[in-house]
Amino acid sequence: MRVTVFHNSNSKSLRTAADLESKLKQQNFELVEANPEIVITIGGDGTLLSAFHKYAHMLDRVRFVGVHTGHLGFYTDWRDYELDELVASLRRDDNEQVISYPLLDVGVRYAGDNAMNHYLALNESTLKRVSATMVADVYIRDELFESFRGDGLCVSTPTGSTAYNKSIGGAVLHPRLEAIQLAEIASINNRVFRTLSAPIIIAKDEWIDLYPDPQGKDDYVMTVDRFVPKKRPITAIRYRIAKQRIAFAGYRHTNFWNRVEDAFIGEKQRE
Ligand code: NAP
Repeated sequence: MRVTVFHNSNSKSLRTAADLESKLKQQNFELVEANPEIVITIGGDGTLLSAFHKYAHMLDRVRFVGVHTGHLGFYTDWRDYELDELVASLRRDDNEQVISYPLLDVGVRYAGDNAMNHYLALNESTLKRVSATMVADVYIRDELFESFRGDGLCVSTPTGSTAYNKSIGGAVLHPRLEAIQLAEIASINNRVFRTLSAPIIIAKDEWIDLYPDPQGKDDYVMTVDRFVPKKRPITAIRYRIAKQRIAFAGYRHTNFWNRVEDAFIGEKQRE
């Protein structure tokens, strides 16, 4: 089996990666960088996001496994001291245990270019204006829904709902749901300007279009997870659920609500 180990640069991750690579070699796994069947990330959710973008062109033939060297993450199931168990699971590899999650397709039109540029997001994509109010028309299924004014808008996947989306008041979605969520970032609401002022979750066969006001076009920033793909004026963005999904080698199942509870609530005090 072809495996790659992708890690962040903190010292614990570096040690864990070296340890894992030597265990994998001992068990005759082929360590490769290009064309792996399994990508094992060592670090946090941010590390898995980076690995996802590195291997996003081959999602139909790669599965991910996350080892965390900090706190329990949303994409990381294994602890750094469980490497022997992880290698044993990989040896027993069972394709039927794959678990996969929806991704966000981000279609962008840049000024002066009619072509649609596509990006994939694992967590979310945002459109923000840096120095002044962002003004953008929001369409759902080609119908004008609202004219937004504020700092920006965020469209997230179910697994991304616990990330930036949650910080701006979005709902946490179970990743079995095939849906995407639109959440506002500091919308302006007064007698003149009005938005829904609540996150919305759209169905699988729907799409959201954003048309930023051309007046501020040089000032908009569009993010895809932790990246800004191109710093070019944007005329339109279409968000929909992607055809591709991210697959995890499902050697271990962690209940989603236990994970949410562990990450955000922790020890509860009962009377
Ligand atoms: P980062 O430092 O890599 O991530 C920021 C925090 O978000 C880290 O604690 C990270 O966990 C956590 N995180 C990432 N994906 C998550 C998920 N699906 N559910 C719950 N927590 C998650 O920051 P970055 O490189 O700029 O951006 C990576 C992601 O961070 C973005 O996609 C965005 O969702 C999130 N972010 C959040 C805010 C905010 O909440 N205000 C601001 C910027 C970015 P680990 O420590 O395990 O890596």
